[in-house]
Amino acid sequence: MKEQLVTKKILKWYDLNKRSLPWRKNVSFQKRQYFTLVSEFMLQQTQVVTVIPYFNRFIKDIPNLKALSKVKSKKLIKLWEGLGYYSRVRNLKKTAQKIIKNFDGKLPDNFEDLISLPGIGNYTANAILSIAFNKAYIPLDGNIERVLKRYLYLKKERDIQKDNLIKKKSIFGMSSRPSDYAQALMELGALICKPTNPLCNRCPISKKCKSLLKKDFDLTKKNKKNINKYFLLKVYKKDQRYLLIKNTKFNFLKNLTIFPMEELSKPKNFDENLNFKMSNMNMNIKIKYVKNTRKFQSPYWINEKKLDNYMLPSFTKKIVKYLMRN
Ligand code: SF4
Repeated sequence: MKEQLVTKKILKWYDLNKRSLPWRKNVSFQKRQYFTLVSEFMLQQTQVVTVIPYFNRFIKDIPNLKALSKVKSKKLIKLWEGLGYYSRVRNLKKTAQKIIKNFDGKLPDNFEDLISLPGIGNYTANAILSIAFNKAYIPLDGNIERVLKRYLYLKKERDIQKDNLIKKKSIFGMSSRPSDYAQALMELGALICKPTNPLCNRCPISKKCKSLLKKDFDLTKKNKKNINKYFLLKVYKKDQRYLLIKNTKFNFLKNLTIFPMEELSKPKNFDENLNFKMSNMNMNIKIKYVKNTRKFQSPYWINEKKLDNYMLPSFTKKIVKYLMRN
């Protein structure tokens, strides 16, 4: 394969500058597949620096797909605690179970089978195929998107649509080392073409970069509407203990332990106590202390003094901390 100049430059830069990340270690082919699967799930909504210690703990405690398929939910959630977006880890376990059952314990190496697995969409399938299987795919993550938009100076709403970016990414060409190349592009976005103050003087493709030519590095934000939602959160307190329940009602934090809550539609005179941002949902929360403990299905009492001993989503922990302060 004849590599384009842009491809050669980016790879050369990567070879000299790549970070040493735990999932990039030189390991067996099988381990590499497992490392890629776990790291890609973790990186779906979280930054590299945050993911590193979580990844190391996870791999140490759950070293392979078989162990992952059998791991107890309690342990799994504990290992994920603080990373948020818990549906990812539930899907990760389901994916491991499916791979053991339907694919002879081997991570599939084709797009159709990969996207049939829970939690694996277009992007993750592309990332797995390139990084784990060295196939000629370029996953379009936030970092690569940014390099592409700046390099070609894509600013108009129609130019930054996903379909157009997928077409345009062909300008990066393809290397005979697809795994390294996909990671090289991601790394270029993460370390050099940063969201603010890109380090153009260290960029291997600065010569033909249109944003640099125009001295305009601003990126057009996609119109993603934030949704305002209102909740009444009920606090049942006995001594220093709070009542929590398993969330079977809301799509966020599904099956995790939360305070009893109900959603209110367009409330009047809503005096919120707390505000949380979860994905594109802006949660306005009003707290109400309730004296009589209603009958809840499997209520779960936690002691505020022993908060660190419980496996709780950080959403719930933050509310307990708020209640302790107020
Ligand atoms: S020259 Fe600057 S803006 Fe252009 S791709 Fe490189 S780092 Fe990004």
